[in-house]
Amino acid sequence: MAKIIDGKTISQQLKDELRQEVAQLKEQGKNCCLAVIQVGNDPASSVYVGNKKKACTYIGIESLSYELPEDTSEEELLALIAKLNEDKNVHGILCQLPLPKHMDEDKVIQAIDSKKDVDGFHPQNVGALVIGQEGFVSCTPAGIIELLHRSGVEIEGKHCVVIGRSNIVGKPMSLLMLRENATVTVCHSRTKNLPQICKEADILIVAIGKPQFITAEYVGEGAVVIDVGIHRDENNKLCGDVKFDEVEPFASAITPVPGGVGPMTIAMLMKNCVEAMKLYS
Ligand code: NAP
Repeated sequence: MAKIIDGKTISQQLKDELRQEVAQLKEQGKNCCLAVIQVGNDPASSVYVGNKKKACTYIGIESLSYELPEDTSEEELLALIAKLNEDKNVHGILCQLPLPKHMDEDKVIQAIDSKKDVDGFHPQNVGALVIGQEGFVSCTPAGIIELLHRSGVEIEGKHCVVIGRSNIVGKPMSLLMLRENATVTVCHSRTKNLPQICKEADILIVAIGKPQFITAEYVGEGAVVIDVGIHRDENNKLCGDVKFDEVEPFASAITPVPGGVGPMTIAMLMKNCVEAMKLYS
């Protein structure tokens, strides 16, 4: 039976550590502040933004909320970001994606000061990751590294297969595993012999974005399986990219959905925000 990697408990530990650190920083007169921008009212984005603000409150990070109407112009959004970049009391700026279609997401991401880019999406931070320099790392992959470390999973020298090459998950994930001295294979929609490659993984990280795609056929005996996917199944129940019940008997450790990778993402955002304040204010 596989060990269940409990993201809910681990993210709570991380949030409690941050809460303590933030309280100590407050005693020194340092207040951490995150600006959260949402354009339009996409229901999923509203849930994510709400959860981020809730985490801020729990940890003791001040959150400034900017809820802009759907028809906000790109210029108006860029002007707000410029103002927040200049504001010394703001340590992190988060612009919830996706943005409305009339906005250029790349341009908006690049407008955020890389020192306040707590999402880790700015090309400067992405570049720093590529060449092994310090910088903010995308929260979901950074959270997976934290999960592996805190669950005692050895990474060095292991063969890690990452399925997915998105800018937010797959690419930074593979770079982080490389940084941890894993031997990394990255798979994508044009990969041939996917089951065979996956079966050779010691650590299989699945960010394919297809509900319950990964079955027992893809998993070697004793592999550690990390499921990044979040979907609703036909019964409206949350599920991942991995068919948990089928894969779990073969794995040595596995993340569930919900309660695996998901809770780590917000915890890492909070960690980045505290880091931003410590490093740059
Ligand atoms: P994405 O942008 O859709 O990327 C999916 C990746 O999977 C692409 O690189 C794609 O290859 C690859 N792929 C698609 N079909 C494939 C196939 N049949 N065989 C092999 N590779 C295939 O998704 P994402 O943003 O990385 O997110 C992945 C999943 O994680 C989604 O379910 C998303 O909801 C979830 N997610 C969760 C969190 C969290 O906090 N837990 C955060 C972010 C995302 P190509 O590049 O060739 O198209």
